[in-house]
Amino acid sequence: MNNPPTSPINSSYDVAVIGGGPGGAALATFLARAGHRCIVFEQAKYPRYHIGESLVPHTYGIFERLGILPQLRASAFPVKHSVRFVAPDGKASLPFYFTETIKGDGARTWQVERSQFDCLMLDHARANRVEVHEQSVVQEVIFEGGRAAGVRVASNNGSPAEVRAKVVVDASGHACVIGRQLNLLCKLPELRKATAWSYFRGGKRLPGIDAGETTMFLIPGGGWFWYIPLPEDIVSVGLVADPEYVFSQSDDMEAAYLREVARCASLTERLVTAERFGPVRGSRHLASLNRQTSGDGWVMIGDARAFLDPIYSSGLYLALGSAELAAQCIDEALKSGDVSAARLGRFEGPLMQGVEVVRRLIHAFYDPKFSFMEFAKRFPEHRHALIDCLVGDVIKDMSAFTNALAQMTPPPPPLGSNLPKPSAPVPAGA
Ligand SMILES: Cc1cc2nc3c(=O)[nH]c(=O)nc-3n(C[C@H](O)[C@H](O)[C@H](O)COP(=O)(O)OP(=O)(O)OC[C@H]3O[C@@H](n4cnc5c(N)ncnc54)[C@H](O)[C@@H]3O)c2cc1C
Repeated sequence: MNNPPTSPINSSYDVAVIGGGPGGAALATFLARAGHRCIVFEQAKYPRYHIGESLVPHTYGIFERLGILPQLRASAFPVKHSVRFVAPDGKASLPFYFTETIKGDGARTWQVERSQFDCLMLDHARANRVEVHEQSVVQEVIFEGGRAAGVRVASNNGSPAEVRAKVVVDASGHACVIGRQLNLLCKLPELRKATAWSYFRGGKRLPGIDAGETTMFLIPGGGWFWYIPLPEDIVSVGLVADPEYVFSQSDDMEAAYLREVARCASLTERLVTAERFGPVRGSRHLASLNRQTSGDGWVMIGDARAFLDPIYSSGLYLALGSAELAAQCIDEALKSGDVSAARLGRFEGPLMQGVEVVRRLIHAFYDPKFSFMEFAKRFPEHRHALIDCLVGDVIKDMSAFTNALAQMTPPPPPLGSNLPKPSAPVPAGA
């Protein structure tokens, strides 16, 4: 991909975005279209590697509103029509086809190779008059009187620059620039999962429209593998399980990953003709959360706000969904001249409602006594809501559904209630 030469940074913008991932690119596109001057700082040179490859169908409406569907349709990304679970004894569920609940083109989505997908998104932002600077690391957010006033950026072509903006958006993913600076970021103690993943060339694909499905191979003890077909005959294969289980024999991530792949007979059957390439990557504790969504002059979106677990492929949807919700709030705040925490953070309620639904489903999934099949039998009236969750339609009131869930699996402690105490006071107004 050819990037246009980096233009000199003007000193003042309406919105400065930290991170050019899908969340940051989408938010900046929406705001630029609403007439605001937006600048995005991305530390990497694109294309760059990223994990998180399976979309859910409910992203379709956001892609449509962004105007990026033509690029996705023209891409080589495998089309995903369904999800299937394979039990530890090798018994496969019937595929769950999204057409069960969605009609038309939106009933399918894509398995995206992230370096290409993220380039598409960032190029689309540029095409919508967003000023994008790659290889530009935001070192810190500048606060004046407790209010975010801009960012300090180190780029590859000069000394650190101060860029002023009326609103600063943290879309920096796990780096979570504002969360770390203000000491708001915590690991979620009750969702401690480790992950390790790698890539194979030549893994088996299912015939017909099942070729692009996500297959989840469940393993004894509550862990699971994802099997995600990508372009160029590549599959992404990743393990998620308790860290005590993954690292029970040694601390070596690659050894643990290869041992577990070899143990899962139905997975190895798919990989019999495949060749692994590239490193084994991973993380020892996935789930993280911040104590705030907004402050005076700033907001957080996407993984920078919260990331829980990849089981429902909800990360990209929540990044894009929070980008769209936050863009609406920022647009209104800028027009009203009030960029206070309360005004900017009006999207927190709907966003955290969605995060909470996903969190409840994650806890249900990892509860060995709980079964979604039993749930659907006992509460047929909530089958539709369950399907909504699988397609990603979760940013709405689903309390009737989560109350029913609570009758079959104990609800976790309220989100954020058992976070470790901050080690330093949060600055006033932040
Ligand atoms: C193991 C695993 C599997 C996953 N699988 C899926 C899946 O199948 N489906 C799904 O939907 N989601 C999945 N996810 C989640 C998904 O990866 C994220 O939710 C998604 O990438 C979030 O997008 P984002 O824009 O918020 O952040 P990111 O995509 O992380 O983008 C943040 C950007 O900010 C940049 N940045 C960071 N710090 C700075 C700085 N200081 N200055 C400038 N730029 C900076 C980074 O370089 C990056 O480009 C998975 C996650 C994990 C860990």
